[in-house]
Amino acid sequence: MIIKTAEFSVSNSDYRKCPAPNIPEYAFIGRSNVGKSSLINMLCNHKELARTSSSPGKTQLINHFIINKNWFLVDLPGYGYAKISKTSRAKWMKMVSDYLTMRPNLMSVFVLIDSRIPPQDIDIEFINNLGMWQVPFAIIFTKRDKSSEVKMENLVEEYKAKLAETWEEFPPYFISSAIKKIGREEILNYIGEVNKLFKQ
Ligand code: GDP
Repeated sequence: MIIKTAEFSVSNSDYRKCPAPNIPEYAFIGRSNVGKSSLINMLCNHKELARTSSSPGKTQLINHFIINKNWFLVDLPGYGYAKISKTSRAKWMKMVSDYLTMRPNLMSVFVLIDSRIPPQDIDIEFINNLGMWQVPFAIIFTKRDKSSEVKMENLVEEYKAKLAETWEEFPPYFISSAIKKIGREEILNYIGEVNKLFKQ
C-alpha cells in the first residue's frame, strides 16, 4: 500500500465521540516506550504524526488519523507506566475497553511488543483481555534492529509457547524497526488486504 495522505483527525477520551465508523480502522497499543509513535510515523512516512514519548504533556487520549482518506489509524494510550495511580489505571482501562468493544469498524488491534524483552505479564494479560472481548489482533515486535536474528527467533518462540497456554492459534505477527524501516510493507499490505473485508 502506498501512503498518499496521513492526517490527524481527532483526539478524545470517549469512544462515542470518535469519528463515524464508516471506514475500516486499526488501533495500535503497547507498553509505554515500546516504540508505538515511532512505528506509526514510520508507517505513515511522517516525522511527527504521532507524538513520541519525549513530547511534554503527552495526553492519554484515543487519537484518530485518517490515512489515504479511506481508513483510520488509531493511536491508543499505552499501558505499564511505572508511576500510575490505581484511579488513572482504572480510567485508562475503562476508556480503552469501551473503545475496543464498541467500535464496529475496528478490523484489528496491533499489540506492540519490544523485541528485546521476554514475555511480560502485562502484555499477556492485555492480549488475553482482547480474547475475552473477542477483538481481532496481530502482534508487532518492535525495535528489530536492537536484537540479533537468533534472539528474535527465540523471542517469537517464547511468545508462541506462552500464548499456547490460552490460545489455540498464534495471531498474525510482524517484525519491525522504525529506525531501519523494517516491516513497513508487510504491515501496510496486511492492512490493505483486511480493508477489503470491511462491510459497512
Ligand atoms: P512510545 O512511547 O511507544 O510511543 O515509543 P516511542 O516511539 O516514543 O519510542 C520510545 C523510544 O524507543 C525512543 O527513544 C525511540 O527513539 C526508541 N525507538 C522507537 N522505535 C525504535 C526502533 O525501531 N529501534 C530502536 N533502536 N529504537 C527505537
